[in-house]
Amino acid sequence: MDSDNNIVPALKKWWLLFANELFPVNNYKYNFWRDKKGELMVKLKERFFRFMYGRYGADQLSRFMLVLYFIIAIVGMIVQNTLVDIILWILNMILLVLMFFRMFSKNIYKRQYENGKYLGIKNKITEYFRYIGNKWKFRKTHVYRKCPSCNSKLKLPRKKGKHGVKCPKCSNFFSVKIWFLMNL
Ligand SMILES: [Zn+2]
Repeated sequence: MDSDNNIVPALKKWWLLFANELFPVNNYKYNFWRDKKGELMVKLKERFFRFMYGRYGADQLSRFMLVLYFIIAIVGMIVQNTLVDIILWILNMILLVLMFFRMFSKNIYKRQYENGKYLGIKNKITEYFRYIGNKWKFRKTHVYRKCPSCNSKLKLPRKKGKHGVKCPKCSNFFSVKIWFLMNL
């Protein structure tokens, strides 16, 4: 009932705002985009900051979502398959809605928790790739082995044979067998 009564004045207001941009009359009341001096966007910025007050805003997760959005969009442009394109488009719409939902959310703790989860996963992935890179980089001189007690990865000199190792993190003793030397 209420929305029916509100829609006409709302439409009228939006029409006046739009019309004033096309044919500016010096009527401050109907000027949505300009301030009293006629400066464009100042009022809009002010409105936006007022709107964003108490809301979460952007974080690393939303930036990642934006990057993902563009990657999916580019993949969609390359792939010439209607079904795949539709699926990618739906995926991107969900991504966009989620991104804006998070940015405009007032539940700051929950959004921070999600961002923390994302950073944790991202950290694990970068750590893993760094490990793979180091394994390759030091393949001639070192081997990487896990401590059976605390699971931390240890960098050990590549010497052929069986060796006793003391874990620097948990002081656990264990033996390591290195089968071959790497010359490649
Ligand atoms: Zn250990």
